[in-house]
Amino acid sequence: MNTTTPAAPEGGRPLARIHWRNVSLLGGSLAALASLFVVLLRDPAVTASLGDRLTATFGELGKALREEFFLNPWFYAVVAGVLLLERLIPADPGQGLLSKGARQDLVWVPFKLLVHASFIPAVIVLLRLGYDRYLGFLTIDAVASWPAPGRIVLAVLWGDFLFWLIHYIRHKVFFLWCFHAVHHSQKELNFFTEYRVHPIDDVFAITLGVIPILMLEPSFVTVTAIVWVRHWHTRICHSNIRTNFGPLKYILVTPQSHRVHHSVDEVHHDKNFGLTFSIWDHLFGTQHREYDIYPETGINDRDFPFEQNRRSFASLNTLLSQLIYPFQAVSRRD
Ligand SMILES: [Zn+2]
Ligand SMILES: [Zn+2]
Repeated sequence: MNTTTPAAPEGGRPLARIHWRNVSLLGGSLAALASLFVVLLRDPAVTASLGDRLTATFGELGKALREEFFLNPWFYAVVAGVLLLERLIPADPGQGLLSKGARQDLVWVPFKLLVHASFIPAVIVLLRLGYDRYLGFLTIDAVASWPAPGRIVLAVLWGDFLFWLIHYIRHKVFFLWCFHAVHHSQKELNFFTEYRVHPIDDVFAITLGVIPILMLEPSFVTVTAIVWVRHWHTRICHSNIRTNFGPLKYILVTPQSHRVHHSVDEVHHDKNFGLTFSIWDHLFGTQHREYDIYPETGINDRDFPFEQNRRSFASLNTLLSQLIYPFQAVSRRD
């Protein structure tokens, strides 16, 4: 993980040096993504089905949001349970329930829901259409004849391994790290930190992950169910709770192991990349094997627009600065 910053001139903030190699890399990637969409949208077969697909996706998403959040008593029960655990066994006892970091993450919640109700479904639909049209031959038909439990287990494990791999790449490639660093900037991990993800970071993860998933052709219900369970686990792993899940830590990602992943200490950098299962980290040697440490979290970039310690609920301005940060970080790299 690269968290270094250019040296600050005496008494001032570091100069934002523009590095055209990085700017062109960013511009080139966005242009490649945009041209893929343009090519797809020029195809009449694609545009004809795009409206229907988008309407269906938005409908499903609205239903999922209603059922997962607003009308789901489990949501309120789990939030209450997590808040109680944060009070009884906090990883960081000085943090409190509604810390400034948690208040800022609450501003990220509606933003991420908005992005996931508009931009991300459009990206997924276009990737799906592109896959069906140009990469459908990659689909592993043999899996379709497997019994449902076998397909679900394979989809869960395959998806989890891909996340591990994509997460690893997002840490190792500086350009991708700048966007992922926004998620890592949280100094006060909490239940809502899962929502602090830059939309471009989301798009990279989805673009790299969706094609191998489509090769298995899992049903929409399977994917939704897996994502639903995963979200709950991930929110709990970001919470300020002192637990390593006992012997389950050898199989599952835990609040303790994910805190080490978010650690500000360089000794812990590039460890514990898992999303749900820790088996990939154990297998590939990226598991940090101290299970009782709860380090401080965050990133070492003094230029990051961290939330300020003020009394206001949170800052929309800080959200905007945090969204702009990766573009500045990419352009000023030495
Ligand atoms: Zn990470
Ligand atoms: Zn995280």
